[in-house]
Amino acid sequence: MSVGSIDAHVAEQWDDVLASLRSEIGEAAFQSWLKPMTVREVSDGQVRVSVPTRFMKDWVVAHYADRLGELWSAVNTAIKDVEVFVQADYGQDDGKKAASEALAHNDTKTDTQEGAAMPILSAAPTGTPRVATARPVANATNDTSLDISAPLDLRYTFENFVVGKPNEFAHAAAKRIAESPTAQFNPLFLYGGVGLGKTHLMHAIAWHIREQDPTRTVIYMSAEKFMYRFIRALREQNTVDFKEQFRNVDVLMIDDVQFISGKDSTQEEFFHTFNALVDQGRQIVISADKSPSDLEGMEERLKSRLNCGLVADIHATTYELRLGILQTKAERMGVEVPSKVMEFLAHKITSNVRELEGALNRVSAHSSLVGRDITLETAQDVLHDLIRAHDRRVTIEEIQKKVAAHFNIRTSDMHSARRARSVARPRQVAMYLAKQLTSRSLPEIGRKFGGRDHTTVMHAVKKVEELRERDATFAEDVELLRRMLEG
Ligand code: ADP
Ligand code: MG
Repeated sequence: MSVGSIDAHVAEQWDDVLASLRSEIGEAAFQSWLKPMTVREVSDGQVRVSVPTRFMKDWVVAHYADRLGELWSAVNTAIKDVEVFVQADYGQDDGKKAASEALAHNDTKTDTQEGAAMPILSAAPTGTPRVATARPVANATNDTSLDISAPLDLRYTFENFVVGKPNEFAHAAAKRIAESPTAQFNPLFLYGGVGLGKTHLMHAIAWHIREQDPTRTVIYMSAEKFMYRFIRALREQNTVDFKEQFRNVDVLMIDDVQFISGKDSTQEEFFHTFNALVDQGRQIVISADKSPSDLEGMEERLKSRLNCGLVADIHATTYELRLGILQTKAERMGVEVPSKVMEFLAHKITSNVRELEGALNRVSAHSSLVGRDITLETAQDVLHDLIRAHDRRVTIEEIQKKVAAHFNIRTSDMHSARRARSVARPRQVAMYLAKQLTSRSLPEIGRKFGGRDHTTVMHAVKKVEELRERDATFAEDVELLRRMLEG
């Protein structure tokens, strides 16, 4: 069915669908998310609806698309689903603008081919379908700003962010900015190693603000993209347009600014944009892998400007945070992971959250492929290569030495036949740590402890696990040793 054949029936159906959804979701959400939609085409059982921005598309797809499809099927059984795509309305004759918009979208794969469809209907507040015409100019400016923002990851919300000691400060600062209608500490500078949640927090700020108040303009962009766009603007001699895009921004977030270090003209532009926005009381959020003072190749005046606001450091994860993240993720993924496996992962995958997630995904994918439950053995097996990489540092000899020193016994007692509790217990702890921190098998570990049997090692591991659960001081001791050895 072509565009022209959308008729009164479709218009009526659209009306019904919207009326139903409006009563389900309430007036505010309706005005923010559904009103801007325009029906573009109905063909092969599919309704194609456009929205003006990438962000709206993500949101509508995540929250309303299924329901829209259901409601539409209810009024017209021929309709199977609803597809949402991005298309900004600039009036029918403004082909040039549409083309440059399409260009501006070149980082969003699917949205560029959509330019051909003509606007047909949009949701008028009265419920009467109307032919869509040019949108108000004031809106267009806003939408342009939204459009240059990179797509946001739907999973990166505050709800999905697990808070622990290492990130509580950064989290609180991000939350404050998200919840406050005016600029707070300017800029918020988030820094920390790779995979520790900087991007997650920035997206969470954006999601929160856009949900609370869709009229506020939030731009999230990587520093690389900022640089790329600026260089392109220079080449095409329209830096004025480039600047214009940022003029009405309420919150500007630039991720990974270490990428613009050493790039002088980009830094210069960034500096000006930054200053202009701060002077207007707009909020800026920056992330980097180092603190402002440690950013090499960054101009001094920019450094000091970045240092002016609030600098929040995300520290390396702790065992507790890793465990918390694993539990949350497993629950969200709907997979059953025994606590032994979680503890194993939290002990072994210590580098960053991204790797931790990757490990969990691998283990759960494996179990669903082979159709068997996740066990400690399969987890060890599937993650063999990852764990090897983490193991390199710690040897059994080292463990024996450290544990002996900690409990004030001789290292030789690790191998001896003495069975007094005062040496047997530390020996068991060392065996347990050898199992946790190295990839040695039980018989191999047994051999290193004076040629003991693998069942002795197994018993030791069980015993220590038991004690850890019963005795908090003992658990702390073991944890301290583990950290020292991994350190
Ligand atoms: P960075 O930008 O600091 O390199 P990301 O924000 O991309 O790190 O985080 C890497 C991955 O780890 C993402 O999938 C993110 O969702 C996840 N992640 C990081 N920290 C947390 C946390 N505290 N809770 C839940 N997920 C997290
Ligand atoms: Mg990142």
